[in-house]
Amino acid sequence: MDIEIREMRENYARFVVSDASPQLVNGLRRVLISDLPKMAIHNVEFHLGPIMGEDGKEFESVTPLFDEMIAHRLGLVPLPTYLDEFNFRAECTCKGEGCPSCTVMYSLNKKGPSTVYSGDLEPLGSDKFRVKDEFIPIVKLGANQAILVYATAELGTGKQHAKFQAVQAPGYRYYPNINFNYDKLDVDKFDVSCCPVKILEKKDGRIAVTDVEKCTLCKACVDEGSKGAVTVTGDDRRFVFQFETDSSLSASTALSKAAELLEKGSAELVKAVSAL
Ligand SMILES: [Zn+2]
Repeated sequence: MDIEIREMRENYARFVVSDASPQLVNGLRRVLISDLPKMAIHNVEFHLGPIMGEDGKEFESVTPLFDEMIAHRLGLVPLPTYLDEFNFRAECTCKGEGCPSCTVMYSLNKKGPSTVYSGDLEPLGSDKFRVKDEFIPIVKLGANQAILVYATAELGTGKQHAKFQAVQAPGYRYYPNINFNYDKLDVDKFDVSCCPVKILEKKDGRIAVTDVEKCTLCKACVDEGSKGAVTVTGDDRRFVFQFETDSSLSASTALSKAAELLEKGSAELVKAVSAL
């Protein structure tokens, strides 16, 4: 398998995978969805009873949403994840008690009237755990309402819960091949605007493809030409792959970690089969 990067941004990756099978790239897609770990809030403790303001004013620890709803919404907030520094809680040396090697603590203390945002989560410890996406609304507080919670984040995978899924919409398509048969094609009659992604243009009495990787294999150009004039096929050994992340992991980290997990999984499978 060979990977050529076409576009690598903080939260987005597009690349071409060559010398691979559909099964292998689908394996990569599934690892990105369900096996790649990320941090998410998994435990929330709510303060009950009155909350004191700085000026001595008393607030009620009441919000318009049920505590369960707020806990769920906090769980879905993308948190910066440092995969090399953390263990899964259940596999940690603390035996699941919770320690700085497997958990990150946050506090949230806000008084109404106001809107509570993801950016109000304060990491207890290093500032590198501060939420990057600061304006995800959690709940609106009325006058005299307040919220005080302590939340614990830990590593998990998409297999456990969607909140642990760092990668969104990973997908691939077969690498397009577009061929024109000029014995059958009448270039003057051929309308290049038939292509919905606009990658065809006329040049020196021929049809040129400006960016073949944008082709979605829709075959509108095949219908536009006379029978057999244009052929569009997908290469089943080469794929255009793309995905986004929710900013908890960078796209490059997600890709390299997923490739590592895929390799590890395949090695374990080979070992298990050869032991039979
Ligand atoms: Zn631990």
